[in-house]
Amino acid sequence: MTYRVVLATANPDKARELRAVLATAGLDLELVPRPGEVAEVEETGATLLDNARLKAKALGAATGMPTLADDTGLEVDALDGAPGVRSARYAGDNATYEDNVVRLLRDLAVRPDRPRTARFVTVVVLSSPDGSEVIAQGQVEGVIADAPRGGNGFGYDPVFVPEGGGRTFAEMAPGEKDAISHRGRALRDLAARLRESGWPTNEER
Ligand code: IMP
Repeated sequence: MTYRVVLATANPDKARELRAVLATAGLDLELVPRPGEVAEVEETGATLLDNARLKAKALGAATGMPTLADDTGLEVDALDGAPGVRSARYAGDNATYEDNVVRLLRDLAVRPDRPRTARFVTVVVLSSPDGSEVIAQGQVEGVIADAPRGGNGFGYDPVFVPEGGGRTFAEMAPGEKDAISHRGRALRDLAARLRESGWPTNEER
C-alpha cells in the first residue's frame, strides 16, 4: 500500500527539491500537491520547527491526511543569525528572492570586519491525523559570496557557497545541491527515521 502524503509547501522551488530527494529515498510514499483551495498558513512561529509544525498541522486539519512541511532559514553569523526564521521576508513582506539577496549583501557590506560564515537549516515535520509526528533536520555550513553567481536553484542560492568548494549553490547542478544541501540532509534524515519506525520501503513490495 502506498502512503499518500500531502506536501504543505506552495513554493514550487522547494517542492521540486523535496520531490527529487524523496524520489531517491526508497520509501513507499506518494506526494500529493496541497489542494489549491486551502489557504496558506502565516509563518508566525518563533522557530523553524514551530513554523514547519504550524504548516503541517493546519494542512492536516484541512485534508485529514498525513502532511509533510518544511521550513528553512539562512543564519548569517555577521548578522547574529539573521535572516533566520525571517528568511522569506527579510527585505519586506512581499520581497522577491532578489530583494532579499540585495538586502543581505548590503547588510554585510556595512560590516566588513565581520565573518561571512553562514548556514542553511531545514526542519521537516511529517504529521499524521492521529497526532503523531516525525521531525528531522538538516544543515549545511558555508559562506556568503561577495556578489551573486550562477543561474540554478532559488532564493539565496546565488550567494551561498557551501564549504569544501568555491561554487555557489546556484552554480551547481540540481543533483549536486541536493546531495549536500540542508533540505537533502533533512529529508534523508526523515527517510531514515521513517524506515526505523517501520514505514514500508519500495524494496519490500
Ligand atoms: P521557507 O520559510 O522555508 O519557505 O523559506 C524561507 C526562504 O528561505 C525562502 O523564501 C527562500 O528565500 C529561502 N530558501 C529556502 N530554501 C532555500 C534554498 O534551498 N536555497 C536558497 N534559499 C532558500
